Amino acid sequence: MALKVAAVPGDRRFSKGESPALGMIAKSVDRPAGGNPQKAPDSDRSGRYRLQRVASNLMFEPARVEACKKQERVCTCHRWRTVGTVQVRVDHARNKAIFGGLESCSNVWACPICSGTITEERRHELQAAIEAWAKQGGSVYLLTLTLPHVRADNLSGLLKVAAATSQRFKQSKAWRSVMDQAGAVGTIRALECTWGSWHGWHPHFHILIFAKPDQLPAFEQLRAAWVSALLKTGAAGADQLNDITAHSFDVRGGDFAAEYVAKFGHEPSFKAKLDAGATWGAAREMVKGQSKVSHSMRGSTPFTLLVAAEKGDDQAAALFREFYWAFKGRRQLTWSPKLRARLGLDAEAADDEILERQANAPEFETIATLQGEDWALVLRHQARYQVLLWAEREGAAGVNGVLIALRDIERERPPDRGRPGQLENGDAHA
Ligand SMILES: [Zn+2]
Repeated sequence: MALKVAAVPGDRRFSKGESPALGMIAKSVDRPAGGNPQKAPDSDRSGRYRLQRVASNLMFEPARVEACKKQERVCTCHRWRTVGTVQVRVDHARNKAIFGGLESCSNVWACPICSGTITEERRHELQAAIEAWAKQGGSVYLLTLTLPHVRADNLSGLLKVAAATSQRFKQSKAWRSVMDQAGAVGTIRALECTWGSWHGWHPHFHILIFAKPDQLPAFEQLRAAWVSALLKTGAAGADQLNDITAHSFDVRGGDFAAEYVAKFGHEPSFKAKLDAGATWGAAREMVKGQSKVSHSMRGSTPFTLLVAAEKGDDQAAALFREFYWAFKGRRQLTWSPKLRARLGLDAEAADDEILERQANAPEFETIATLQGEDWALVLRHQARYQVLLWAEREGAAGVNGVLIALRDIERERPPDRGRPGQLENGDAHA
């Protein structure tokens, strides 16, 4: 291997002899200077890889390795190889690099990497649905449904009550007659959840309703039906009647629906999260009583909990685990039957199909292939993001440059390779 040549042209950090610390690599790729940067760093992607590692470590159970059992898939996602080698693949037209030959967990709730890809696709579908309905002369309304909750509530229990309430609401006479009256052809329901330090877990629903124009007053009639469902399932008590009537139901017209869809799946920038660090806490949660529903909506998303967990916050770590188990296997979006056909859309793809499709998309060309040893090196140094970034900037030479720099680091400071089966080995599955 010709180490004398700087593997990344014009970038002295990768020259032989300098043995740059990984921190230097990370710092430099985040702030392109000189060299030949063809692409600005994608700070969101960098954050996704970083937070995926946090999720992976939080859910990793060494005892399960020793018992030869598989880990939660988020632990091995974009880490373990499905075949012998890992491919670095580039779509030259978009200058976008991805990995091939790796496991993916398709956990839209808990995996920042998979959720990024899946929700992007889902967002395009939602936008296509809204556009198709507008072309047919219809309007889309955004219904937001919440339930009262307190800090002590456990999430699984809340989700059960939320599901029962939603079911009762949709089976009500009022729902059927309003849908009829408004000329509704279908709905898409999104499940979301935040956590606030004052009121705890806050699962809630957003429902897009595809109906005739100018039906806002009709949908407003559903407020009483939601309140009644909350009381009947025990989600709220009679003493909370005023509060839930005022705050648990909201319906808005077309622009709001479009705005919701445009932001769907977009976490407030991952970089902003990482920068903000510990701001996930109490500051925004200080409002009591009447406004609790609307204010607790501004709580932390589960990925914000990962940021705090990364900083050593044990409470955030425990909350993320609770969220993980409560949401595992749940649907993020539920389209009513026949709506897709009515709007001229294909059948819905499963989450893992979306990931599979991207990984094998023909526009991506394999520009580098990493053997197991090299992939383990990348994992040990948490350099997955750097490999993609340099693939986009310099192609195969960029990937090679990252590997050379990492080998230099290990030559100076041999790593503790840990026990067999540990996540960072990357070959535990081989
Ligand atoms: Zn994943």
